Amino acid sequence: MTFQTEAAALPTPMVQTVSAALRTVRVLTTGSREHQDTQLIEDALLDSWHDAVQIYGHGVRIAFVEGACPDGADLIVHRWALAHEAYGVVSERLEADWDHCAPNCPPAPGHRRRKKPGDTAHPGKLDDFCPGAGPRRNAELVRRGAYLCLGFPLGRSYGTRNCMKLARAASIPVREVTR
Ligand SMILES: [Zn+2]
Repeated sequence: MTFQTEAAALPTPMVQTVSAALRTVRVLTTGSREHQDTQLIEDALLDSWHDAVQIYGHGVRIAFVEGACPDGADLIVHRWALAHEAYGVVSERLEADWDHCAPNCPPAPGHRRRKKPGDTAHPGKLDDFCPGAGPRRNAELVRRGAYLCLGFPLGRSYGTRNCMKLARAASIPVREVTR
């Protein structure tokens, strides 16, 4: 890379400053949309932030990545990340595309689900949604890579545990955070 060649010509302290300032590490978070334990989640975010600074040094930017669910754990993470932007924390969101099916979705009628009145869990323009959109979004979150995954399941939490499983399979360390 051109950048590395140029940076190598700089005096050492400058190189260190530049690389620390440019570095962003990603922490993948996944949690129940029913989650309301703000304290538990925020404590875990703070811990992982401190850990990342210990490992990567001051000046590192930490992106907290979540699936943009309009409530529950994703929203708590998003708000916390925004509130700490001035300290090098970044909010990274990846919404599920509930409106559209993937090429490998079953063509059979009944694959797509009708939204119940007042459904806020599957935001989109259409009256029905693709049930595969959540798992697809989780796979993409994991595919983007992270140095750590924080899981905030509540009970069965099918989607959350699925995402944690995908992260483990991708060799991302997973920390399950519960009371
Ligand atoms: Zn589909």
